[in-house]
Amino acid sequence: MAGLAFAQAGPGITGLPAVRARGFRRLAGQGDADHVALTFDDGPDPQSTPRFLQALDERGVHATFFMLGSMVEKAPGLAAEIAAAGHEVGVHGFDHRYLTVRGPRATRSDLTRATDLIADVTGKRPALFRPPYGVLTGAALLTARELGLTPVLWRSWGREWAPAATPQSVVRTLVSGLDGGVTVLLHDSGCTSPAGAWQRGLAAVPPLLDECDRRGLRVGPLAEHGLLGRC
Ligand SMILES: [Zn+2]
Repeated sequence: MAGLAFAQAGPGITGLPAVRARGFRRLAGQGDADHVALTFDDGPDPQSTPRFLQALDERGVHATFFMLGSMVEKAPGLAAEIAAAGHEVGVHGFDHRYLTVRGPRATRSDLTRATDLIADVTGKRPALFRPPYGVLTGAALLTARELGLTPVLWRSWGREWAPAATPQSVVRTLVSGLDGGVTVLLHDSGCTSPAGAWQRGLAAVPPLLDECDRRGLRVGPLAEHGLLGRC
């Protein structure tokens, strides 16, 4: 097994306090105190992503979309549409598998393939990488560095994939972790989640944006988050 460098709060693999430790601020996506970074993983998905784009457009908000190469391959036009709408594109890998069960060569191949495809389809070279399940390995860190990708995890998430999740619980969970400078994670695709998960996440977007407004927090992509020195 490749060396596990960091484990964050992926389903079943928790380590949230670890990323709060000193030196992990950038990895945890900690940015400017008056800003919240909004990020979406697992798309683009023709079934769900257009709904998220619409919800964001209605509020004039841009976000970061960490895309899966396997999804981009099936919906290249939608990936291009996300970028053309002014959103930031990041890499979530090609296939949605734990990097810890992959060797260095497979890791390098997966990340390179995904990065090249996303750049090709969107016309934007991604600068950010979020590993599946938030679990990084030494090989992934090395490859990310070679590809010019900064790994960024998250600190607040909706847990919309949890078995007992409801739209209300997603909002409550998100808001309980909300603070100036946090990076928020939702999913614009249900491709790795149980049925109903993306709908709960979608329903949480307007209340989340309302709460940020109420607290005077700006919302935007990681590119505008003031992350400490990328790469
Ligand atoms: Zn994912």
